[in-house]
Amino acid sequence: MKRITHWIDGEEWSADPERTGPVYDPATGQVAGEVAMASVAEVDAAVEAARKAFEEWRDVPVTRRQNVMFEFRRIVSDRRRQLAEVITSEHGKTVPDALGEVQRGLEVIEFACNIAHLVKGEYSEQVSTGVDTYTIRQPLGVVAGITPFNFPAMVPMWMYPLAIAAGNTFVLKPSEKDPSASLLAAQWLAEAGLPPGVFNVVHGDKVAVDRILEHPDISAVSFVGSTPIARYIYENGTKHGKRVQALGGAKNHMVVLPDADMELAADAAVSAGFGSAGERCMAISVVVTVGDAADRLLPKMLERIAKLRTGPGTDPDSEMGPLVTPEHRDRVVGYIDKGVEEGAELVVDGRGYAPEGYENGFYVGPTLFDRVTPDMTIYKDEIFGPVLSTVRVDTYQEAIDLINANPYGNGTAVFTNDGGAARLFQNQIQVGMVGINLPIPVPLAFYSFGGWKDSLFGTHPIYGPHGVDFYTRQKVVISRWPDPMHRGVDLGFPQHGS
Ligand code: NAD
Repeated sequence: MKRITHWIDGEEWSADPERTGPVYDPATGQVAGEVAMASVAEVDAAVEAARKAFEEWRDVPVTRRQNVMFEFRRIVSDRRRQLAEVITSEHGKTVPDALGEVQRGLEVIEFACNIAHLVKGEYSEQVSTGVDTYTIRQPLGVVAGITPFNFPAMVPMWMYPLAIAAGNTFVLKPSEKDPSASLLAAQWLAEAGLPPGVFNVVHGDKVAVDRILEHPDISAVSFVGSTPIARYIYENGTKHGKRVQALGGAKNHMVVLPDADMELAADAAVSAGFGSAGERCMAISVVVTVGDAADRLLPKMLERIAKLRTGPGTDPDSEMGPLVTPEHRDRVVGYIDKGVEEGAELVVDGRGYAPEGYENGFYVGPTLFDRVTPDMTIYKDEIFGPVLSTVRVDTYQEAIDLINANPYGNGTAVFTNDGGAARLFQNQIQVGMVGINLPIPVPLAFYSFGGWKDSLFGTHPIYGPHGVDFYTRQKVVISRWPDPMHRGVDLGFPQHGS
């Protein structure tokens, strides 16, 4: 059985762990490995390595830091298949889906390759006689990332390439459910020339997270995960004086107006609802049909759902893989039970499905509910599985009001052929990322990524320009060099232009 341990100060941590957790192969249901769960002392060792490394890394010329990122980009790009297979083996998603994840991560590394330009300051000459003012951006110090299971390579890459390129050192606490991708990244960063201690990985759970939140040598925490934990991280991290960005869960609605192209809308709803078995923060989980749209849309969705192939992520024929753990599978099945109990119409039931030869894997087939109402549990909670709910409303305004009343605000979409209706949506909707005739606004590295309301705590969306702001702080310098205009002691507050 494979043993997955921490990466501290440029090497694998050799001490035996006090506690371990299981890592599954979700396709077969077997325990494939065990991951070390960090103690407080192990987190402290990682932070100390990062603190020491920062003393030199902050002064490494920005072009050299940038070069490490270029080399890291080359390695990840060349070995993307290897990384994708590691993701599939622990997460369960299909290999093509995992390759897409790697590609999105690579784009953030590419953005970080531009760090010399991104951290440039501003300069104003002659703000007063013989006085110039300028800003410089400096790294924060040791920063930490805490990441979810659903994108084990990409979400950490939303954080560490930019943080490191900007001169910080990093402690990553990835999801304990699929930890191996982070270890591979650590090895590849070292191979790319990153000095020991600049990037460290500690595996674990609440023990490690709580130590990160209170550790006095950590300046900032980036978090991506579910809303209750995001809120907890934000409240406790800021209480300890840290800069915190905490991205939470989602309940993404897709509105289909009666004039929409129903073929396009059906393709989008099924792709975004069941891609990665619904374990995406940008998955569509609620289709809101306006007027008679449902009667035309649902038959087209049913045709498509009937053709979906669910199976092991390594099988080239599979379009949808298993869920990540048995607990998560049981939770999703519990929600389907609850939907039936509360009176929603179960149109397609994915419970009890398993492909032949994989009876112990954590599978749930695509599931579709109709006539879901906002008071039902399956509408209110984030299910994070292959379960799509249809809510029927009479008017467009009702659809907008429904979304705006929802506590989550990560992503949403509208399908229509009316430009005015789309524009109204983009203007009025209380959600951070909006698709127009596209189901999921795909993250792009040169735009920051983040939702509104309970989907993001803190002021900074992740990576992109906001990421540069998050991982640097501004210093303002006002400078004057001795000159003949020097006028001696003056206790007055300088007046503008003097
Ligand atoms: P999670 O909140 O359970 O775990 C995220 C991280 O927090 C993990 O590293 C985990 O070890 C840690 N953690 C879990 N429980 C903790 C506790 N009680 N105290 C301290 N730390 C704890 O999330 P998950 O199940 O791994 O991932 C799925 C969630 O992530 C979904 O809600 C999804 O919407 C969200 N997500 C959001 C985005 C986004 O961009 N907003 C992106 C990806 C995933």
